[in-house]
Amino acid sequence: MRFDYPKNVRFTCSKCGLCCGNTQVKVRHVLLLKSDAERIEAESKQEISKFASEIVDKAPYVYEMRKGSGKCVFLQNNECSIYDFRPLICRFYPFELLTYEEGVSTFRVTEECPGVCLGTKSVGKKLAEGYFRALLELALAEINDISN
Ligand code: SF4
Repeated sequence: MRFDYPKNVRFTCSKCGLCCGNTQVKVRHVLLLKSDAERIEAESKQEISKFASEIVDKAPYVYEMRKGSGKCVFLQNNECSIYDFRPLICRFYPFELLTYEEGVSTFRVTEECPGVCLGTKSVGKKLAEGYFRALLELALAEINDISN
C-alpha cells in the first residue's frame, strides 16, 4: 500500500461548518457509499430516503446527502449530529484521495478549510504518516466491502 500525503500539515477543526454545506463559491456534494447510508440509517433510526437521494455515475458512491438551506441535514449548531458514524467522505475532510496511479494513492488537502495549517507553525495537531495510512485502510475496507 503506497501513498503520498502532504507533509508538515496540521489540522484542528474550528467547527466553522464550512465543510458541511454550500459556500459562496462551491456547491457541496456529500456523497455516500451504500455502507455509509445503511450505517446512518441504522444508527439514526431514519430511513435513507429521509436524509439522502440516490445518484448515478458516481461509483462507488450511490447516494448524496440531502441539504436544508444549503447545509447537510445532520449539521446542527455547526456540529455534526452523527459524528461518530459520519460518512467516509466526511472522515477524509479536509483531505481527499485524488489519484490512484501506478499503485500510489495521493492525498490532497483542500485549501478552503480554515483549520488547516501548512508549514512549520505550531497550530493544530501535526498529521503524520499513520494518520493517512489509517484513512486509506478505512477507505479500502469500505470499498472492498462494497465489491464483495
Ligand atoms: S454528515 Fe456530519 S460531517 Fe458530514 S456533512 Fe453532514 S454534518 Fe458535516
